[in-house]
Amino acid sequence: MDCIFCKIVAGEIPSAKVYEDENVYAFRDIQPQAPVHVLVVPKAHIASADEVSAENAALVAEIFKAIPKIAKAEGLANGYRVITNCGEDGCQSVKHLHFHVLGGKKLSERMD
Ligand code: 5GP
Ligand code: ZN
Repeated sequence: MDCIFCKIVAGEIPSAKVYEDENVYAFRDIQPQAPVHVLVVPKAHIASADEVSAENAALVAEIFKAIPKIAKAEGLANGYRVITNCGEDGCQSVKHLHFHVLGGKKLSERMD
């Protein structure tokens, strides 16, 4: 499958890894929009939040177990934001489910 995040997980495209476990991989966004901007992905290909189902929801739970560990390691003790863009109106550009973890400054109150 021609998916850049599958290639990053496989090590075929280099990335700045910040966390990895059996099911989850996290790396720095190549165009950071905050002092800390990490992308957290399932190793298995799921296209978007719209494709989460009873069969793969455990992988999403694994991601949300990893996020506090990543936030702690990144020094985000004062808080952070978790975002997933979905589909055309959500401005999703990479069609492999990913959660943006943003922090390291006081973020904008608006999310649009
Ligand atoms: P989306 O717009 O789909 O929510 O987010 C995709 C994110 O992936 C963007 O923030 C973009 O900067 C990041 N990105 C795209 N290609 C690469 C890449 O090859 N390496 C890394 N580290 N980030 C990427
Ligand atoms: Zn993929």
